Amino acid sequence: MIQPTMDRRTFLSRTAIAAAATIQPGFAHADDSPLAQHCIDRVEFRTVSVPWPRQVGRNSRGGIHGQGPKKLRVCVLHTNKGATGWGQTQGKTGKPEQLLELVKGKSVADLIDWATGIRSEKYHAVDIPLHDLAGVILDQPVWAMTGAKEPHLTRVYSGMIYFDDLDPADNPAGTDKVLENCSWDYDYGYRQFKVKIGRGNRWMPAKAGLQRDIEVVNAIHKAFPDVDILVDGNNGFTVDTMIGFLKGIANVPLFWIEEPFHETVADWTRLRDYLVANGRKETLRADGEAKPDFPVLEELQKDHTLNVRLEDICGHGFSKWRARMRRLTKQGIGVSPHTWGTALKTVYTAHFVGAYGNAPTIEGVTTMGGDVDFGENRIVEAQFHPSSDAGFGLSLPALS
Ligand SMILES: [Mg+2]
Repeated sequence: MIQPTMDRRTFLSRTAIAAAATIQPGFAHADDSPLAQHCIDRVEFRTVSVPWPRQVGRNSRGGIHGQGPKKLRVCVLHTNKGATGWGQTQGKTGKPEQLLELVKGKSVADLIDWATGIRSEKYHAVDIPLHDLAGVILDQPVWAMTGAKEPHLTRVYSGMIYFDDLDPADNPAGTDKVLENCSWDYDYGYRQFKVKIGRGNRWMPAKAGLQRDIEVVNAIHKAFPDVDILVDGNNGFTVDTMIGFLKGIANVPLFWIEEPFHETVADWTRLRDYLVANGRKETLRADGEAKPDFPVLEELQKDHTLNVRLEDICGHGFSKWRARMRRLTKQGIGVSPHTWGTALKTVYTAHFVGAYGNAPTIEGVTTMGGDVDFGENRIVEAQFHPSSDAGFGLSLPALS
């Protein structure tokens, strides 16, 4: 029998006092830690719907992205004391029985340390559900469980401005369609747009594609002068074509440039030098999302040629991200763990940066019409506020 949402809420209200909301250092390791008193006794997979509010078109690499996840597989962990935690999984999880085999008989404290994250890479697949579960048992939002007294709030950008001018293929909508999407996102509450560029990489002749990128970005800035613009090339540029693009938008301030090309020390250094010499010293330089070349990224951030890291919140791993934060913060390197795909991942990242700060902005993936209750996770005055409810503050749909 699947536990409906109400059971989780009931559990929360029942255990709010018993869980002793104040976490003390070392507490989770003690035998009397609430995490040590819960054992996983059931694992289930369910599907949830977190669709996007509109069709999302092409980028410089891929074709039409569609309407968003309508049958997203998530994992629900149940303990012998009636607590549940859930979330997206990562990598191969196999069947519920196989996953249960991995965690069966172990206490939650055996699987996750609230202060650092999962205790072994073996649990990478359920890193997110384990963080949610630990938060539920401790009656703490994930951002607070990691030590923050108040969540660090960050700006949030709409990550949904694609090449919608190019579709439908037999009657392309043109630049106005992109402006219409920006308008929707503005009304939704965003004051930062990340604009996909690189039409000349695959979908248009190189010169015409570059020209369209320039036209689109200039038009967005003209229509929304109070909005920060970020651009994402999905590795579809060379240094020279990127400089050509920048020359075409000379009067548009840029908040950041993401993945213009696959990272190399030579290319990023050349682009950084161009930016600094041409009044764009403050434009953030972000990379690390697609097939990250870790030695190159580390090299590039030594002198801040690159100053924002983007690896995926689930793919790279919530706990792995936690482990690197002290060092990145000390180095002055910003973070913005990638979330594209689902609005759930935006919430995971919001809790992560809520805990650690040091994020110039986070990636907003908007959802509408799905069946997950996002609770108090929301955009307020152009900042993303992570929920103060236990775990990630996300509720599974009640079963009808
Ligand atoms: Mg990207």
